Amino acid sequence: MKSEFDICIIGAGMAGATIAAYLAPKGIKIALIDHCYKEKKRIVGELLQPGAVLSLEKMGLRSLLDDFDAQPVEGYALLKDDEKITIPYPQNYRGMGLHNGRFLQKIRASALQSDTVTQIHGKALQLLENDQNEIIGVSYRDSTTLEIKSIHAPLTITSDGFFSNFRESLSKNEKTVTSYFIGLILKDCDMPFPKHGHVFLSGPTPFICYPISSNEVRILIDFPGEHPPKKLLLQAHLEANVTPFIPEGMRTSYQQALEEGQFKVMPNHYMAAKPIIRKGAVMLGDALNMRHPLTGGGLTAVFSDIEILSAHLLAMPDFKNTDLIHEKIEAYYRDRQHANANLNILANALYGVMSNALLKTAVFKYLQRGGVNAQESIAILAGLNRNHYSLIKQFFAVAVFGAYDLMRQNILNLPKASRILSDALTIIKPLAKNELTIAAVLEDYRR
Ligand SMILES: Cc1cc2nc3c(=O)[nH]c(=O)nc-3n(C[C@H](O)[C@H](O)[C@H](O)COP(=O)(O)OP(=O)(O)OC[C@H]3O[C@@H](n4cnc5c(N)ncnc54)[C@H](O)[C@@H]3O)c2cc1C
Repeated sequence: MKSEFDICIIGAGMAGATIAAYLAPKGIKIALIDHCYKEKKRIVGELLQPGAVLSLEKMGLRSLLDDFDAQPVEGYALLKDDEKITIPYPQNYRGMGLHNGRFLQKIRASALQSDTVTQIHGKALQLLENDQNEIIGVSYRDSTTLEIKSIHAPLTITSDGFFSNFRESLSKNEKTVTSYFIGLILKDCDMPFPKHGHVFLSGPTPFICYPISSNEVRILIDFPGEHPPKKLLLQAHLEANVTPFIPEGMRTSYQQALEEGQFKVMPNHYMAAKPIIRKGAVMLGDALNMRHPLTGGGLTAVFSDIEILSAHLLAMPDFKNTDLIHEKIEAYYRDRQHANANLNILANALYGVMSNALLKTAVFKYLQRGGVNAQESIAILAGLNRNHYSLIKQFFAVAVFGAYDLMRQNILNLPKASRILSDALTIIKPLAKNELTIAAVLEDYRR
C-alpha cells in the first residue's frame, strides 16, 4: 500500500517523541500521534543516568537538556543509620535531574519543528492489518472532530507507555507490580550531598531523592506490595519508615510538602521484553520493557533502544522494502537484549537487596570499602557498563562479602550467612532467566 509516511509513531512520550526528534531531520517522514500534547506534571523519568545523557549526546540531542533548569548529578550517596557514603560516577560522566514534563515538551518541540513530522492529535485505537496479517498502520479517534481516521505506513512504532493498548498483539509480556512510589517535591532544601542522587536505607524499604531544578528536590518513597497505599496506611508508613530518617536540612521542606499533601503515587512495574515479531510494527519504551525505577534506568534503556533501532532503520536505503524492514526489527530486538539486560536486572535485583536487611547491610559495607568494586558497581548503575559478567560478578561478590563478614563477626552467624547467599540467589535467578543466557555471560567474560 502506498503511504505518505515512512513511520507512524503511536505515543509522543519520552520514547516516541525522542525517536521522532532524531529521525525526522534525516528526512524520514513521520506521523506522530498522541491524545495529549500538554505539559504534564509526572513523577517519572526525572533522573537521567549518565548512560542516558551519553545516548542523547551520541544522537546529537544533548542540547535538549539545556535552558530549563536541569541539574547535573555527579554521583550517588547512600545513607544508613548514622553512616553516609558517596560514590562518584566515572570521571567525565554526569547524570541530570530534571522536570520530566519540561524535558518532554522540549523533545516534542524539537521533533515537531521538522517539516517531515506530521503532528496528529488523537487516540490510537487499533492496529490495521492486511490479508497477510501484516500491520499497515493504525486507526485513531481525532481529538477535535471525534471522527475515526486511519494512518498507513510501512512501519508502526508503538510507544504508548506502560498502559499500552497494543502490547497484547505484539508481545507475550507478563507485567507485575513490584511496589509503588510515592512522590513529593521538596522546595528550597539542602540535601546532604548536593548534585547527588541519594538512597536512604535506614527504614525497611528504601526512599530516594535527587535535584530536579535549582530549588526543588524530588523524593520518591517506596511502598511495597501490589496495591497502592490507602491514606491511613500511607500515613503510618511515612511516620514509621520515612520521617525519622529525613536529614536535618530537608526536614522543614518535607513537613511543608506533607502538609500541602501533593502526593503522587505510581506503580513500579517489572516486565521483561518478550516481543512477537510481526511484519510492519515494532515496540519501544515502556510498552515493550519495564524495570523498577529505583535505579533510574528507564530512560537509559529507552534512549539506547532508540539508538539501536534508528541505526538499523537508517541503514536501509528507504522504507519501500517491507522484508528488509522486518529484518531490521528482528535485529533491533536481538541487539537491545544485550544492551538492556544489565539495566533491567540491576533495577529489580537492587530493589530486592535493599528490601532485605542482611543484603542491604552487605551492599552498604561493600560499597563503603570503595576501590575498583565500588567503581565497577556505579558504572553498571550509571548505564555505562553493560557487561553481563561484571554485573553477575559484582552481585555475587556482595553476597559472598556479606556472608564472610557475618562469619568473621561470629561463627554462630553461619545460618544468617547461608541465608544471605540463598536470598541473593532467589533474587537474581528469575531476573537472569528472563534477561540473560549463559552464552552471553561467557562471551562478556572473554571480552
Ligand atoms: C515512579 C517512576 C519513576 C521513574 N523515574 C525514572 C527516572 O528517574 N529515570 C528514568 O530514566 N526512568 C524513570 N522511570 C521510567 C521512565 O519514566 C519510563 O521508562 C519512560 O517514561 C517511558 O517512556 P515511554 O515513552 O515509553 O512512555 P511515556 O513517556 O509514558 O509516553 C507514552 C505516551 O503515549 C501516549 N499514549 C498512550 N496511549 C495512547 C493512545 N492510545 N493514543 C495516542 N497516544 C497514546 C501518552 O499520552 C504518552 O504521551 C520511572 C518510572 C516510574 C514508574
